[in-house]
Parts: sequence; C-alpha cells; structure tokens
Amino acid sequence: LKNELLEMEKMEMVSHLSASVAHEIRNGLTGAKGFIQLLKEEEKDPQKQKYIGIALSELERSDMIIRDFLTFAKPAPEKVEVIPVEQLLTELIEILNPLARMNSVEVKKNLFPFSIIGERRVVQQALLNMMKNAVEAMPNGGKLTISMKQHKNHYEIVIQDTGLGMDEVQIKRLGKPYFTTKGQKGTGLGLMVAYRVIQQLNGQIKVNSEKGKGTRFHIYLPCTAENDELSTVDQNVQPGKVH
Ligand code: ADP
Ligand code: MG
Repeated sequence: LKNELLEMEKMEMVSHLSASVAHEIRNGLTGAKGFIQLLKEEEKDPQKQKYIGIALSELERSDMIIRDFLTFAKPAPEKVEVIPVEQLLTELIEILNPLARMNSVEVKKNLFPFSIIGERRVVQQALLNMMKNAVEAMPNGGKLTISMKQHKNHYEIVIQDTGLGMDEVQIKRLGKPYFTTKGQKGTGLGLMVAYRVIQQLNGQIKVNSEKGKGTRFHIYLPCTAENDELSTVDQNVQPGKVH
C-alpha cells in the first residue's frame, strides 16, 4: 500500500510537471511559428520556400501533440473544484462548433445540470479530446449527440457519433499511447489522456461501436457533489441507437 501511494504521488507530480512543460513549449512554438510564417511570406526562392514549409508543418505537428495532451494546461498546479458538467459540455460544444461545421456535423445536446469534483482543466481536456474524435470520425458529415443520464450512484455522459466506427481490434487498442488511425494527422495521445483523467475521477469509459455505423462512448462518473440538481431535460433529442 505504501508503495502504491508513493507511485500515485509520483504520477501526480509527473502529470503536473508535464502540464507546465507542455505550456512552456507551446508558448515557444507559437512564437517560432509566427516568425517562420513571416519568413515564408517574404521568401521568393522556391527551394527555401519548401524548407520553410517543412519547418512549419513540423512545428504544427508538435503543437498538435501538445494540444491533444493538455491544451488547457496551466503552469501552476490546479486546485480541485466543483465542476458544473453541463456548463462545461456546453462550452466545449461551442469550442468544437467551427470544426463540426467544417465537417458538416450537426451537434445535438441533451443535458441537465450536475456537478463533479476535480481539476477543471484536465476534465475539460478529456471531454474535448473525446468530442473532437467523434467529429473527426465524420469527415463526410453526420450527427454528434452529447447526452446525459442519471443512475443511482453515478452519472453517465454519452458521446455518440454516426461516423466511421471501429472494429474489435481497434476498440481493444483505445487509450493506448500512440494508437492512431489518422496517420500524420493523429497523435494517439488524446484518448490516453481522457482514460487517465476519467480513471482519476474514479470513473469509467465504455465503448459501443460498429464499423461504418458509428460509435458511442459512455463515461460513468460517481455522484460526488452535494449541489446536484435535476432539471427538465431538453426534448429536442431522441435517445439514438448505434446499432
Ligand atoms: P488521434 O485522435 O490523434 O488519432 P486518439 O487517442 O484521440 O488519437 O484516438 C485514437 C484512435 O481511436 C483514433 O485514431 C481512432 O482510430 C480511434 N477513435 C477514437 N474515437 C473514435 C470515434 N469516435 N470513432 C471512431 N474511431 C475513434
Ligand atoms: Mg484524438
């Protein structure tokens, strides 16, 4: 048990440390990208243009890795707080809207207010990574539905898409670092972060998916906050089925 605690403490430290490192690297990348962009605009030599282009796309890729890892990372360790999940999901849908529109994805939500206790930024990151995957799974359009359910001792968030879907082999690899089917456009880190965050909240992630039909991610979170209040649920969403 003592060892386990020590391990947990170490993990905590590493995750805070990496969050602050990620933040610093991101600042540097943003600066470098800006200046290289300027160079590119002024450069006439096609050979040099090409090199600058390669440098830019390498920087872009590094930025993407950090984005999937912890976009919202702050250098200072965050405090644990009460997180209004409905509000958080609504904000994330807003953030995701431009990408959804680009993919002709229609977003529906069916939410009610409930709260959990955790670090807002990491929870935000976990949910965003999963919602982003759902949109990316629908390059030719489709429907993303974010809904909630209340059970006896836990809440459930469902992220459902009508996208590419996955086979058994893919499902087994979910959450493993560097597993991606998106080639250069993927990092394979988004779900690893999401699984870890949900696990730290004593929650669980389950997946239903069918190739060519779509995917449903279920996130189960224990009821913790006292200030939960149920309100009437939006009527504009029919609880859909993947299969
Ligand atoms: P990345 O998005 O960079 O590939 P992730 O860790 O976020 O990395 O996801 C890993 C892989 O899991 C994706 O490449 C994809 O194959 C699969 N995946 C995740 N979510 C979905 C989804 N909603 N529909 C289909 N496949 C998914
Ligand atoms: Mg992803």
